[in-house]
Amino acid sequence: MQRLQAFQYELMPNGEQQRDMRRFAGACRWVYNEALKRQQEIYAAGGKYVGHFDMCKWLPAWKQTNPWLKESPAHTLQKALKNLDNAYRNFFAGRAKFPRKKRKGMGDSFQEFDAKCFKIDLSNSRLKLPKMDWMRYRNSRDILGTAKNVTVSQKNGKWFASIQTERDIEKLIPTATTAIGIDVGIARFATMSDGSFIEPLSSFKKHEKCLAKYQRRMSRKVKFSKNWHKTKRKVQQIHSVIGNSRKDFLHKRTAEISKNHAMVAVENLQVSNMSKSATGKGSSAKSGLNKAILDQGWFEFRRQLDYKLAWNGGMLVAVPQQYTSQTCPCCGHIAKENRQTQARFECVDCGYENNADVVGAINILARGHRVAACGEEGSGSVRKNRTKPASVKQEPTEATSVSSNVGSSAVGIPVL
Ligand SMILES: [Zn+2]
Repeated sequence: MQRLQAFQYELMPNGEQQRDMRRFAGACRWVYNEALKRQQEIYAAGGKYVGHFDMCKWLPAWKQTNPWLKESPAHTLQKALKNLDNAYRNFFAGRAKFPRKKRKGMGDSFQEFDAKCFKIDLSNSRLKLPKMDWMRYRNSRDILGTAKNVTVSQKNGKWFASIQTERDIEKLIPTATTAIGIDVGIARFATMSDGSFIEPLSSFKKHEKCLAKYQRRMSRKVKFSKNWHKTKRKVQQIHSVIGNSRKDFLHKRTAEISKNHAMVAVENLQVSNMSKSATGKGSSAKSGLNKAILDQGWFEFRRQLDYKLAWNGGMLVAVPQQYTSQTCPCCGHIAKENRQTQARFECVDCGYENNADVVGAINILARGHRVAACGEEGSGSVRKNRTKPASVKQEPTEATSVSSNVGSSAVGIPVL
């Protein structure tokens, strides 16, 4: 079994190296935007989409008219076009919106995808990228496996190198044998079907006031002045703290869960829909909720569970979310009235009572067992679901008939 793993390090560039990296990222952004513009012109003229291979043929001419492009490593520019190609393909498949123009300071990055073109000096914690001098990095942990590519990016004023590696590992058999369902929410970050739960972190909320204070200060300063830069650094620092504490929180929780369970069932939650609904008109009341949703990092939670379970030999099952909060786990009765308040579940039919989130988690687990047992295509892993087009057909399957035994027949299980 092959394991792909990325190792991220903070870079310690000198002034010249910082300028180099900014230039490379800028060239990638220019190429991306220029290709996007040309694609739109071709489309407007009735032409067809130009694939990655043919887009790369535009590069030599661009380098002629913009000699500064030659100062960037060739592969990084090709990769920028590959990114645009991916963005287009996601759009065509209905997975993403139409690709947008990249702006400076938003996800500045570049990638060297040829392992022959970069070197890592482990003993001295140095990295050599094409067209750059050796650059030091903070060696926070050892790299395992063979380095395949390296992506350099800037975030909150710091530079990072993410080194993707590959190595062979033995196929693991999970040491844990239990299965658990997880319901995510606002009041509780996650509730397990066994009744335990994780408190929300809300790292943003904790730092919100402090952040707002410095953002206000920044807006009062003369743009690009010395004091403006100083305040900006402070704002970036707070963003870093927020991001890091969230990362730490999620990694700890997901490591624990994936170690202790062989199967984890989660709802196939569309967080993007939830936050989108709050951006429409009359949404001011919702925007508090919206902020809370985005603050929790549920997508990241699920992503980490997915790969960590796979590493431990377990699996993540994503189940459809309809009625998980309204179905009685005891008798299968589905009714809105089952849930009188946000926190309490009380079945109007059989009188079963429990915490509403725990009920949700129990239903998710039951549904997860059915999905896993029927072995439906694509339902085994979240990652697989994501690569499928969004327009899913709802076909009657074996699982539908199985699920009817348990009472949630109204739901069925769509082929994901
Ligand atoms: Zn009941």
